[in-house]
Amino acid sequence: MSKVSKAISTNGPFDDLGLAVACHEPLSHHTWLGIGGAAAFFCEPVDADALSRVVKRCHERGIALRVIGGGSNILIPASGFAGMVVRLSAPEFCAIDFKRPSVTVGAGAKLVHLVSAAVQAGLSGLETLVGVPGTVGGALVGNADGHGGDIGERVREVSVMLPSGDIDVRSGPRLSFGSRWSNLDDGIVIGCRLELDEESPEQLTKRMQKQWIVERSEQPSGTRTVAMMFKDPHGTSAESLVVQAGARDLRVGEASVYATHANYVVAAPGCSSDDVRGLIELVRGRVRERLGVELTPQIEMW
Ligand SMILES: Cc1cc2nc3c(=O)[nH]c(=O)nc-3n(C[C@H](O)[C@H](O)[C@H](O)COP(=O)(O)OP(=O)(O)OC[C@H]3O[C@@H](n4cnc5c(N)ncnc54)[C@H](O)[C@@H]3O)c2cc1C
Repeated sequence: MSKVSKAISTNGPFDDLGLAVACHEPLSHHTWLGIGGAAAFFCEPVDADALSRVVKRCHERGIALRVIGGGSNILIPASGFAGMVVRLSAPEFCAIDFKRPSVTVGAGAKLVHLVSAAVQAGLSGLETLVGVPGTVGGALVGNADGHGGDIGERVREVSVMLPSGDIDVRSGPRLSFGSRWSNLDDGIVIGCRLELDEESPEQLTKRMQKQWIVERSEQPSGTRTVAMMFKDPHGTSAESLVVQAGARDLRVGEASVYATHANYVVAAPGCSSDDVRGLIELVRGRVRERLGVELTPQIEMW
């Protein structure tokens, strides 16, 4: 659960549900960039039943609802979010359960925990995702990828909570994953089953370590207030385009292109959401103007 002190809602739309709902929760405490405004309501339900009550109430009252995972791919505006934000941090949503060669995992589990648990169990297929920050839910929705594979390739079943509060278990042709994209955008992903391959833990560990070295060399180090700006266009990297367009030294306010990894924005103290948004648009415009390529933002702007 978040350690942030919370103003607990009274006379609010969720009071009769028997849940701890915080009002005016600063979302900056829940994102990597550490900036942006507050959520009108914020809740970390203890189980699927509690989540269902929140989801149903939002649906009935027309209250906007969003999920926050690890917050590594979200830009929150200064005005915050005028609705309910849920976070699946309770143990029920973070469980990892192996039934060889499959693993069932809650959407709130950290991806890093899932990857290392699978490697230790001698099950391969997820080690390409080592170093990708965030939760399993965020990875599923955005089809997170690493060098040589994405999570969607291993997904066999996904449980999604619908606005009605019912759980829809999807498999086969009802699941679709593309480049940093999935069709899981119509509800709250609460868990999934992935199919993995048997392999010796020693070999897997070595492979994961190599992969981790590559991944780390491509990520900013020494700061957490970063976000990935653009998706890689087919056949090239967004980073190389930003460099070729001469955009690596750009900055807007306290937001700047990360010096050694030009596809990341870094937020210095005092940075605002408008700074980050402005920088992304500036870089995108420079790449369009100089190279004729339209980059697609990776970070989601709420
Ligand atoms: C340093 C750094 C390195 C990165 N490297 C990679 C990389 O190598 N590969 C890659 O693919 N990405 C990478 N990313 C981007 C990011 O880590 C991924 O997109 C990640 O999967 C986001 O997960 P999250 O839990 O942080 O999602 P969040 O940022 O919390 O949310 C992202 C979106 O997913 C939705 N969401 C989250 N959980 C759920 C849920 N349970 N149900 C429904 N919707 C949900 C949110 O509402 C939001 O729309 C990187 C980011 C950073 C900052």
